Amino acid sequence: MTQPSFPHLFSPLTVGGLTLKNRILSTGHMTLMVDDGKPSEQLALYHEARAAGGAGLIITEAAAVHPSTAPMHITAFRDECIPGYRRIAEACHAHGCPVFGQLGHGGRQTYGSGDGSLAVAYAPSALPGERFHVMPRAMSERDIADTIACYGAAAQRMKRAGLDGVEILASHAALPAQFLNPRTNLRSDAYGGGFENRLRFLRQVIEEVRHRVGADWVVGVRISGSEMEHDGLEIDAVVEACAALDGDGALDFLDVIAGSMAGLGGSVYVVPPMFVETGHAAPFSAAVKARVSIPVFVAGRINQPQIGEAILARGEADMCGMTRAMICDPEMAAKAEAGRVGDIRACIGCNQACIGHMQAAYPISCIQYPESGRERAYGTRIPAPRARKVLVAGGGPAGMKAAAVAAERGHEVTLYEAGPRLGGQALLAQLLPGRAEFGGIVTNLAHELELAGARVVTDVRVTRDLVEREAPDAVVVATGATPWRPPIAGADQGHVVDAWQVLLGEANVGASVVVADWRCDWVGLGIAEKLALDGCRVRLCVNGTMAGQTIQQYMRDAWVGRLHKLGVEIIPYARLFGVDADSVYLQHTTSGEAIVCAGVDTLVTALGHEAASGLERALEGFAGEVHCIGDCLSPRSAEEAVLEGLKVATAL
Ligand code: SF4
Repeated sequence: MTQPSFPHLFSPLTVGGLTLKNRILSTGHMTLMVDDGKPSEQLALYHEARAAGGAGLIITEAAAVHPSTAPMHITAFRDECIPGYRRIAEACHAHGCPVFGQLGHGGRQTYGSGDGSLAVAYAPSALPGERFHVMPRAMSERDIADTIACYGAAAQRMKRAGLDGVEILASHAALPAQFLNPRTNLRSDAYGGGFENRLRFLRQVIEEVRHRVGADWVVGVRISGSEMEHDGLEIDAVVEACAALDGDGALDFLDVIAGSMAGLGGSVYVVPPMFVETGHAAPFSAAVKARVSIPVFVAGRINQPQIGEAILARGEADMCGMTRAMICDPEMAAKAEAGRVGDIRACIGCNQACIGHMQAAYPISCIQYPESGRERAYGTRIPAPRARKVLVAGGGPAGMKAAAVAAERGHEVTLYEAGPRLGGQALLAQLLPGRAEFGGIVTNLAHELELAGARVVTDVRVTRDLVEREAPDAVVVATGATPWRPPIAGADQGHVVDAWQVLLGEANVGASVVVADWRCDWVGLGIAEKLALDGCRVRLCVNGTMAGQTIQQYMRDAWVGRLHKLGVEIIPYARLFGVDADSVYLQHTTSGEAIVCAGVDTLVTALGHEAASGLERALEGFAGEVHCIGDCLSPRSAEEAVLEGLKVATAL
């Protein structure tokens, strides 16, 4: 096979006094691998895995420069952060990968205090924040001076820890961007008003950091080329600011992204889901690059080396942030350099276990590669003490992961799939509008099975007889789930179908549809969108507080926006009660009052799943070792399926 090469990605880059071996960057991203404000040992192992996998540069997550900002961060305003940073630096340096710190202050995007009470948020002006519903306190000049001094002190700590540089976070409407933006900075003193005054805060932060760390240490700024918000910074103002800062001569690089933490629309672009095109921020970095002399980085859905290479080849940036690409596959860079492009486990932009975990206050991971963020427990594949015969029943994500890992460890593995294709419910999920990329999980796991040498048999349903004939040492039952179809009052009078039938094209749907969505996840949103795109009038009735309640926020918000454009009516707090020939009856989940949807042709149910536990029951009393994983254990999502596949196969 002819392999593409990546001459631009794998050429060195000089940033300040530092030469990077390639142009692949793991950008600063929140991991929640923080122990009482200090970088944890797990965080060092996490970054080390990316360094060992060939990353050219790692920038660690936003650290709080001052006690007045967000509580889940590394507290870089305390010396206690230094040993943890030192451990990260040493771990990554061992693989030839420099490490920068990141200096953050959320300003009015400060939403908690760490003890459950609301924080006092500090901002240039007392203007309400739309996303976190915070009314900040306008900073006094003393507050400003104190905060600027803290940026410098935090950078100095990072230098003492052995990091190679630092990035000042002015992206995503962080505090420096709030000063820069005339719509969030209404001050009339030296920090507000004209462009020079609004830039003063960031300039003084850079000056203070440079003063504290000296001329030879790398200092850069991250900024959003567009905050993608109704009142956010836009590219023209950003380019002017970057050109002015470049002219000051104190910066070594600029790092361009898109999005804002300030509002729901802009925050979609902070970690853009699969709806957003790959490399979407490159036009912004190109505009900045055209006006500055220092290297310009870019990030935003650069999930494959081909995309990064094209951005660099077009001269739109000097370095590519490929963060989720390396959460999903820590060895992405090394595989690309070795020409093993087909072996790269591409990130599918699902946002589920990376930013999704972070927002749920858990350490980040990946649905496709749950080893990420769990390097302590699963970072090394330990060969099995003795090869055993393993039978895996079910070729969905759970069974595929279990079979691949067990085979990698040296077991003799056969995976049986009852249908003609591997993939399980992921094959259905990829049929939802805008979700085709989700099918990548199947492609990636199938390739891992092949590489590991597991035997795959399709169109064979595993029975107890088959198990007894094969006589494996261990059986892994991963038979998945089927739609939950509870009895619905009046269903014999109405037209009732389920989401699977709609996706598979097995059901005719009328012109006016109610989607009854119990789980408030991708299925209800996707079915509603599909039917609206087909021209139906759609009412999406969700048994929760909002559509998409249980999925990652940026994915949900983007999806709800798409439904709004299509005219889908969303009815929250709605428990399905019954149906007749032309109406669907629901009950408000808190008031208990009826909600009647009249003029309905078809009710589409998205009521979750029930475990397909027939094989598990059939194997009761079987003398051998039996493990049950994934949806047949309890219907959840692909994330839990893959994680349980990893866990069971690691223990075999
Ligand atoms: Fe990418 Fe999804 Fe993995 Fe996040 S969880 S790194 S978006 S594949």
